[in-house]
Order: sequence, then C-alpha cells, then structure tokens
Amino acid sequence: MTNDDLNCPTIGIGVRLSSFAPAAIPKHRDAGQPVAAGETGELIVKSPYIAEGYWRNPTDTAPVFAADPDVPGQRIYRTGDLGQFRSDGRFVFLGRKDRQVKIRGFRVELAEIEATLTQHPEVREAAVVVNERVTNDTALVAYVVPAREPGPTADAVRALIQFYRTGEESDRVQYDIAWVQDKDSPVDTINGFVEVYMDPRGIKGSWEGLVFYVNKEKTERINKFASNAQWFEDHMPYDAKYRKASVKGIVANAIDVVMETGDSGPVTPVGINLPNDQRIREQYGSKSVSLSNVRDASDNAVPTSMRSEFSWTPEEVQRSEKFATLAAELLTDMHEVIGHASGQQAAGFKGTPQEVIKEHFSALEEGRADLVGLYFMGDPKLVELGIVPAADLEAVMLAEYEAYARNAIVQLRRVREGTQIEEDHMRNRQMIVRWLMANTRSIEQRTRDNKTYLVVTDPKAFRDGVGKLLGEVQRIKSEGDYAAAKALFETHGIHFDATLRDEIVKRVDSLNLPSYQGFVMPKLTAVKGPDGTITDVQISYPMDLTKQMLEFAEPPPSPAVTGSK
Ligand SMILES: [Zn+2]
Repeated sequence: MTNDDLNCPTIGIGVRLSSFAPAAIPKHRDAGQPVAAGETGELIVKSPYIAEGYWRNPTDTAPVFAADPDVPGQRIYRTGDLGQFRSDGRFVFLGRKDRQVKIRGFRVELAEIEATLTQHPEVREAAVVVNERVTNDTALVAYVVPAREPGPTADAVRALIQFYRTGEESDRVQYDIAWVQDKDSPVDTINGFVEVYMDPRGIKGSWEGLVFYVNKEKTERINKFASNAQWFEDHMPYDAKYRKASVKGIVANAIDVVMETGDSGPVTPVGINLPNDQRIREQYGSKSVSLSNVRDASDNAVPTSMRSEFSWTPEEVQRSEKFATLAAELLTDMHEVIGHASGQQAAGFKGTPQEVIKEHFSALEEGRADLVGLYFMGDPKLVELGIVPAADLEAVMLAEYEAYARNAIVQLRRVREGTQIEEDHMRNRQMIVRWLMANTRSIEQRTRDNKTYLVVTDPKAFRDGVGKLLGEVQRIKSEGDYAAAKALFETHGIHFDATLRDEIVKRVDSLNLPSYQGFVMPKLTAVKGPDGTITDVQISYPMDLTKQMLEFAEPPPSPAVTGSK
C-alpha cells in the first residue's frame, strides 16, 4: 500500500492490460500523451479492436475510434472517464469529463436533456442535476428559467431568496417592496417576516410562514374596506395631522390557508397585515389577509357554553349566537385593512416607531388596529357599503362590544402562572377594556353567585371612549411617545388580579374549554384526467392534528421526475 492509497478513499478500478494500451491524458491536452502517476487525465483505450456495433461501419466508427497517429492500424477510444494512475499502476476513477451519469444501468447525458428542455418555447435556461438527497434514490431533477418576463410573484420570491442569502437590511427592504407590489396573485405566501408578539421585550422575533390562495367570494367584502380606505382614513377620530392625505396600495384578500408554520401555525392568527416596516407602508402600501378557513374552523370549535358562562343575560347570549361571528369577521377585516394600514408619523419624525416605543410598540399597534375596528363597528357607512343590513347594525356593534369585554377576563385562562400578561394581542385587549372601565361608564364589573362578569352598559359611551383612546394611541405612535405608551400598558394592559384569574381558570376548566386551539391544515389532492394532467384539486381536512404534525416531520415526498430511464 502506498501513501496515495492512504490519502484516497476511492478504490481503484483496475490496472493496465498488456494487450491494450490504456493511458490517461491531461484534461487540457487533446493529444494522447500519457500523464505522470498522480496527475488527473482522461482514460483512453488504444487498441486495434473496436466495439460491438462498429465493425464494418466506418461512418460511425470514425468520430468515436480515432486513428492512432503513432501506430498504424491502432485506434484510440476516449472514454470520457477522468482519473489518475496510482504509483502501483492502478487507475482510480474521479468522475466524468462530460456530464454523463448512470441511472439504474442507463447512461444519461445531462446536457442532452437540458438541450431538449430549452427547445421548449416557455423555457429559457435549464439545468439538470442528479438528486439523491430527497428520495434516497437517484433521480434527475430539472430546474428551468422561464422564457417569459417573470411576474411580480417571481420577483418577490427572488427578492426573498436574496434576503435569506445575505440577511442584509437593504435586501429585506427590497423584499418588502416586491412582496407588497405582488397584488393580484391568486396564490401567495407570507415568508421572511418576523413578529415579536411573544417576547415581552419586543426584541426576539418569531418567523412565520404561510402558503394560501384567495377565497374569491369572501374577498368581496374585505375589498369594500380596501377600496373605501380613504373614507375611513378621513373619518378617523384622531388629529388630522396624523391622517394620511392619500392612502396608498391597500391590498386586502380573504384567503384560505394551505399551510402555516413557525409563529403562524398550527396556533394561528385570524388576520395578518404586513409588512411591519412603517416607511414601506407609507410609501408602498400593505397587504392584508383575513384567514377564512381558520375563522370558520375556530367558530365551529367554540362551544356554546363558552358564551353562556360569561354572559350576564340570556339576551347577550342570543346576540352573541346570532351576530358574534359576523362581528368578529368585521373586526378582523377592519383591524387589518383600515386599522394597521391607517395613520402616519408626525412631520419630522425620524426612524421607525418600533425603535422608540420599543417593547410596547407591538401591543400599541395591535391596540390601535383593534380600536379602529371597534370605532367603525356601528358606523352607518357599513350599511351604505352593503356590509351590514341597517336593521342589524346596532346589534352587531353591541355583540362585538360585549364579546370584546368578555374576552378581557376569559383570556386570563391562558396565563395560569404569575400576574402579568406577556403576549402583545392579549396586552392590547386587556388595555382597551381596562382603560374604558377606568375612563368611561360603558362597562361594569358585576358579580353573581361568586362569578365575575364584565357587562357593557352603554354602547354609545363605549364607542365614544374607543374614539378618545384611539386619538391618544395614534398620537403616541405618531410622536413616538415612549413614556405614554409605557404608562398606558403598565396601568391597564400588563398586570391583572390573580384571584380573578383563578376564578376564570376554574370556570373554563369545569366546562372543559381549551386555552389554545390548533388548526388542522387542509390536504390538497390532485385529481387527474385520463392523460395524466391535473384537472382539479380536492380539499379535505384530516381532522387529526397530532397525526398531521407527525406527517409534516417526515421527509418530503419525491419530486416529480421526468427524463430518466
Ligand atoms: Zn394586528
């Protein structure tokens, strides 16, 4: 054994036979000079013989078996295999000179497949590789560059890839812009955005990833808010200097989720508005989605006992059963579309409000968006836009105010230890209700049979209070008033009474109500026509969260393979 062998994990494929004259030639030389041991070259075979299929076939033989200029009658066959001779005369295979691969016994020339692919009018460039990672089996995978100009979705995905590659702030900004400008795609994603709701310091982010498609029927209503966003902006109950003179590029869709992960699934939001970068919102607009299939699933999962246990009167229960679903959908629509998207920073404000309002920014911003929804909930504009029938307007508003007030105590079931709320949406909801209780006469805390209730006693006072609080919250954001944000949440949003929490936990536990719910994601199954093309997609829900999560943990299925044989 030689030193070469020790350094080389490859096993030799043979030695020279005396009757043949194989030799390796260096890559860069076309002539057949032998290379020294240890130098890489192409394996050639010198022999008077030719191979099967070439005998008496000079036309095919000439390009494959070249005449040896040194030995008359001898031919040279170039194998295309690269390798080295070791000091003991063994030849070690180091790969192919061309890109020929062998798959299940068949020789495949990758360049030939690429050339064939690029003949297709829709393909500009193609690359074919052998992939063994995904399937644990050899498969050919083709990557193509489409011939047509890329659409806005492709631009956004490219920008996202660039941002993931570098992690640079400038690439993040380019991605935000490209994503916002991709407005009309029926299938879209949320990827690469980060939320800080779960971190009380507002520093540590959670990644969220979604794939979804537009629910056309339900998008009609949410679009009414988007197309009338300027009207709502002009009627915001805050100082005119914080209102946008021209609301830009609000895109709003009701969507059905196909897949959620990271911070967005299976414990899922019901609405999302992005990007979070205030400068990009003001210059380029934002995109809002209302998650329709999540909302439907969660409505179906709320037991009636949840409503009756915390309602003060039977009328409140009935109102909730009749109107709470619609009211909650409207709140989400307005929260995302005219809530997050509204308002502007004070003239001369530098940087971002996140930077100055720090750990309270996220809760403040969520509070602002909720307040916008609550404020317009009973507005006659909703009747004018055909969103709520005139006869139901007051009941819808009251049903939402009652549900919102109830939630401030019911949500305490999620915080089973300590006396502080950390999650930002929970902080903002607690802040709004407790502020209203401290500053208006719209909500009363009552007790019956040792059970606590929050009862809405005056919906008009509730709405006026919401308008006043929204004015202040918008001022805090626009001016970047950290001290005021801190005081607001320290006083009303973060701390709670542990005795009340214990009571709530006891009540929900006796009703067997969950603190959190997980969303079982739809399963898409392709329906194929007789010629194998996809004609339809069947949507089903496996209804088993544990099984679905375990399935997601398995390696992905094999990619569709064409071109190998
Ligand atoms: Zn929000």
